[in-house]
Amino acid sequence: MTRAFNFSAGPATLPEPVLRQAQAEMLDWNGIGASIVEISHRSQDFIAVAAQAEADLRALVGIPDDYAVLFLSGGATTHQALLALNFAAPGQVVDYVVTGHWGKTAIKQARPYCTVNIAADGEAGGFHDIPARDSWRLTSDAAYVHITANETIHGVEFRDTLDVGEVPLFADFSSSIASEPLDVSKYGVIYAGAQKNLGPVGVAVVIIRKDLFERAGQPRADIFDYRSHAERDSMLNTPPTWNWYLAGLVFKWMLAEGGVAEFARRNAVKSSLVYDAIDASGGFYRNEVAPAVRSRMNIPFFLPDDTLNARFVAESKAAGLLALKGHKAVGGIRASLYNALPVEGAQALVDFMRDFQQRNG
Ligand SMILES: *Cc1c(COP(=O)(O)O)cnc(C)c1O
Repeated sequence: MTRAFNFSAGPATLPEPVLRQAQAEMLDWNGIGASIVEISHRSQDFIAVAAQAEADLRALVGIPDDYAVLFLSGGATTHQALLALNFAAPGQVVDYVVTGHWGKTAIKQARPYCTVNIAADGEAGGFHDIPARDSWRLTSDAAYVHITANETIHGVEFRDTLDVGEVPLFADFSSSIASEPLDVSKYGVIYAGAQKNLGPVGVAVVIIRKDLFERAGQPRADIFDYRSHAERDSMLNTPPTWNWYLAGLVFKWMLAEGGVAEFARRNAVKSSLVYDAIDASGGFYRNEVAPAVRSRMNIPFFLPDDTLNARFVAESKAAGLLALKGHKAVGGIRASLYNALPVEGAQALVDFMRDFQQRNG
């Protein structure tokens, strides 16, 4: 068996030691005679797995005690709607800064519940840059300001946490959580679907500053209420136990590898390798994002001629480099370099890129 280097944007590559451990524990977890997915979420065994995963994520990301950490189903998109339901009054203004596809999705999910003010929008510039902070038209009494920390499709990443004053900052960190140190205390809410940097699809992590639970929000069922989930340790109903367990293994692996500081180092190495290869290609490869906000996680790039895309994807796949086809909204090629993608994967990609250019340039 050979495992390829997997550049998928999500669901994405997982650490091989984690998959091996899950494989070894598949039929019999910890000697209990059953898989962890075959037992009650209310059993002491699963509660211990769940609590350990939360403790490890808190240690990994540096989440202060005045924040709740929820492990919920639904994916990031569901939470884009729940944020509005939980934290904005009916019709209240919410400020959105749009720097790519997922910012637009977030607005679509919030619109039925509140008045969306697009405080800044990078679309006119093709989402190649983040609108300058002093151009944002923020609302002084907005329920929150929403940003997408890393735009997975357009490859644009906030490199600093920008100050938005008293209004809480809510951030979609789906594709960049735990990829570099993060000052959680600057945010009201941080949320992330697990399937990019944290684990398998099917669970989302929602980190909420606890004072926000005082907000009335909008009429909603208990199951859509973050406070109810927090009061029941994310076990108001059956949580996605397998996904939670597997994410917990990823957290343990990351801590053992040296934590977020080490992954920040690796991610900088990987993304520099690929951007340097693009920039040194004499225009054969093109990335159109402003250098200051280029994503370390997702690198979209273009070939001189779109007819070369299919050849690039087929030949890279044959060379053991998977899932490099660009998203249809942008086209071209996209390399996702999440935490679990090793530095050797990025090196193999740039070696392939140089070889491909020589044969097709
Ligand atoms: C993948 C992604 C989403 C959507 O996640 P789902 O789990 O499919 O709902 C939202 N935001 C960002 C930044 C993403 O990368």
